[in-house]
Amino acid sequence: MSIDKIAIELSNYATVEENVPMSSLTSLRIGGNARYVVYPTTVVSLVEVMNLIKKYNLSFKVFGKGSNILCSDNDYDGVIIKLDRSFNECYFTEEGCIAQAGCSIIAVAYEAMRNGLSGLEFASGIPATVGGVTYMNAGAYKSNMAGVIEEVFVLHDGILEWIPNSKCQFSYRHSVFHLNPNWIIIATKFRLKPKPVHEIEEVIESRKARRIATQPLDKPSAGSTFKNPLEKPAWELIDGIGYRGKRIGGAMVSTKHVNFLINEDKATAEDFMKLVEEIQVKVKEKYNIDLIMEVERFNW
Ligand SMILES: Cc1cc2nc3c(=O)[nH]c(=O)nc-3n(C[C@H](O)[C@H](O)[C@H](O)COP(=O)(O)OP(=O)(O)OC[C@H]3O[C@@H](n4cnc5c(N)ncnc54)[C@H](O)[C@@H]3O)c2cc1C
Repeated sequence: MSIDKIAIELSNYATVEENVPMSSLTSLRIGGNARYVVYPTTVVSLVEVMNLIKKYNLSFKVFGKGSNILCSDNDYDGVIIKLDRSFNECYFTEEGCIAQAGCSIIAVAYEAMRNGLSGLEFASGIPATVGGVTYMNAGAYKSNMAGVIEEVFVLHDGILEWIPNSKCQFSYRHSVFHLNPNWIIIATKFRLKPKPVHEIEEVIESRKARRIATQPLDKPSAGSTFKNPLEKPAWELIDGIGYRGKRIGGAMVSTKHVNFLINEDKATAEDFMKLVEEIQVKVKEKYNIDLIMEVERFNW
């Protein structure tokens, strides 16, 4: 594989991989190749990577575990930044923790449990990074990140800043980070509450059993494909149009959880979007409700 000038310069500061299939970076296992994937090791290395991105006018995108991203089938001529190899320290106090953006939120939730700290039980089965769940205001079982985040450490325009929860504009699967795609989340501070470990463990175990019973965890997916409209849960609408098990190419509506569209067999992004759009049209026709994608499309 030939190494080009940009790759050489990036590799002064970070591990660089070239022409990486984005299917290997996302839970849906779909997507063309990314020109560069970089793994900065420290804030300094990240800042220098950003300087090079600016110098060469490259587009970039931070990926967490790629568990909410549908990449197009096209190649991406830019830089994907991954923090999960090095930004994975978590610091606990009696009141909570500061977790770096690359930490697995599942690992942080279990570590919180071991420290007798409650609040992250709802997130103990979300296959994501701390950066990703903060960006998404991820949630489950009527709880969400907005309820436990105290502040977020962000790199923007070469400046490092703690942004308090009140300025994060959290709402349903939305945050200020959607409005500022150039901001990079470095770490998140969680405020948690003391609780006996066995009580936290009970909740985590029951959530786990529920996920295993209700979600197609053996198939590639990006979790819930659509946001739940105010009127009715998305799964009811999809079931209502008779789309449980519906398949287009390799993409399929899960029979176990109808809001999970799965990569049943070598699905392309095109298969996936055809299925999404067909569902949106039929739901609109039958219920006059707009189903909005929760899964983010990238590189279209
Ligand atoms: C089996 C399964 C179950 C799921 N269950 C849930 C659930 O219960 N609740 C829920 O809300 N979601 C769920 N999801 C969806 C997904 O896990 C969440 O949306 C999660 O927040 C995505 O995190 P990630 O680290 O994978 O981020 P990615 O999918 O990689 O990225 C998501 C967005 O965050 C941005 N981003 C990531 N890291 C950073 C950073 N450091 N700085 C700036 N931006 C960043 C990305 O650029 C992108 O725009 C599920 C997914 C799967 C596959």
